[in-house]
Formats: sequence, C-alpha cells, structure tokens
Amino acid sequence: MKKWYLVAAALAFSASVTAATPWQKVKEPVPGAPQSIGGFSNGCIIGAQPLELQGEGYQVMRSQQLRYFGHPDLLSFIDRLTTETQANGLGNVLVGDMGMPAGGRFATGHASHQSGLDVDIWLQLPNSRWSDTQLKNPKAIDLVSDDGKRVVESLWQPQVGELIKLAASDRDVTRIFVNPAIKQKLCQTAGTDRTWLRKVRPWFGHRAHMHVRLRCPADSRECEEQAAIPVGDGCGAELTSWLEAPAKLPNAKPKDPVIPEPPAACKALIVNNFKAE
Ligand SMILES: [Zn+2]
Repeated sequence: MKKWYLVAAALAFSASVTAATPWQKVKEPVPGAPQSIGGFSNGCIIGAQPLELQGEGYQVMRSQQLRYFGHPDLLSFIDRLTTETQANGLGNVLVGDMGMPAGGRFATGHASHQSGLDVDIWLQLPNSRWSDTQLKNPKAIDLVSDDGKRVVESLWQPQVGELIKLAASDRDVTRIFVNPAIKQKLCQTAGTDRTWLRKVRPWFGHRAHMHVRLRCPADSRECEEQAAIPVGDGCGAELTSWLEAPAKLPNAKPKDPVIPEPPAACKALIVNNFKAE
C-alpha cells in the first residue's frame, strides 16, 4: 500500500486528542508563498518561517519540540512586541509554542496553533536571559489562586500587565486568551485607558501564559477568521460568569472533542509531503 494512502487514512478518522498526528512528522516548512489555511483549530500553513531561537529581548523555550514556526506576520508581531518590551525595560520575553513547520494538529497540549497565527507567551519577564537548560525544561509560574478566583498577589508583576497591554494594542492581534482571574486583575488595574482590554478574553487554563492570536493575513484566502469579539472591555457580566464556581461554568470544556476533517488543502499538503519523502 502506498505510504500517502496510509497517511490519508490516518487523517480520515477521528482520533483522541492525544493520538499522534501526521503533522508532527513534518520537519521542514512546506515551500511556497506564505498561506495560512483553514481555522486556528483546524488548519495548516504553507511557507511558514522559523522564529530565531535567541533574539534581542526574547528567547524561545522547548525548541526541541519544533513548535517555533509561523506565518511571517506572526514573526513580525513578535519582533514589534519584543522591541517595545525592550524599550520599556520590561525584561526578557519567553516565547512558548507557536506552530509546527506545516502547522496542523499537535498530539498534545493544544487544539489550536494550527495555521501559523498563534503564539503562547509566558507571563513572567526575567531580568536575565535563561540558560539552555532552563529553556529546555522551563518552569512555569502559576499566577492564579487554587480556587481560580484571583491572581496570587505575591507572584503578580505589573510588568506582566504591561506585556499583555502591549500585545493587545498591536494592530494585527485579534484575541489574547488569559485565565479569567488574570483578566480580572487587568480590569482592576487598567485605569482609564481600557480599549485594549476588549481583545483580552477569559479562557480555561492560561494561568502562566497568554495565548496571542493574529487576524488572517489579507492574502491568505483560505484562512478562516473567527467571529468578532463582543464590544466593550469585557470586565462585566461575562467575566463574572467565568469567575463563578467551575461547576457553574456555562460552557464547561468538553472532555473528548470530536476532531474535524482538515480542510482539503491541508489534506493535500500532508499527502504531498509524504509522497515526496
Ligand atoms: Zn496557546
């Protein structure tokens, strides 16, 4: 049986989120003009670029996992952000997962990060650069109390609030996911400049990192944008509903989400990649 046929078959059935995915076997970006294809949680990317692992003002963690690829727009965003964090003396930015070389679904850790437009940035800003050992096995700082209702004040740094604000103020950023308790802290400390808060969305987890998502690039015609976010700073009733007891959450996270079929262009891409092997 031809190899690509096996891969196509593997893509066709819905597996659990921890199953291996063919995307993990892709070690190099797919050559071509950069194109983000499909949705953030069901897509892929042609022409992804690797982020420099050590840049001015930032470092990439866990590079051994090959999750430091993205659309050039994502690399540009990280450059703009880290230029500003440096200019403001905020500390060293720690970059977590972006996407895999061709995007697609991870075996573990995320449903999204599939189309080269998502990046996780940790919510700590060390003053000195981390060693290779630290970067390989980084230590997250959980900023949220056990009951999930507030940030741990002894761990919260105002610079982290500044970092989130800088990212949310970027022209290409559409959404930033943080834990509801972190959003609450931002709501309480923002003062009168509040427009950027709209993009900061409460979500499960995200206690030690923020997840930044960009808009679809204008020339990525098969990129699927998400619905617009609600108007306002999001500090009212919606946030309160998140901060209620977890059992009362209106949309508790499904345990075993059904994995949808990838877009046709992504299926073709993985098939071709394996054919060429
Ligand atoms: Zn993420």
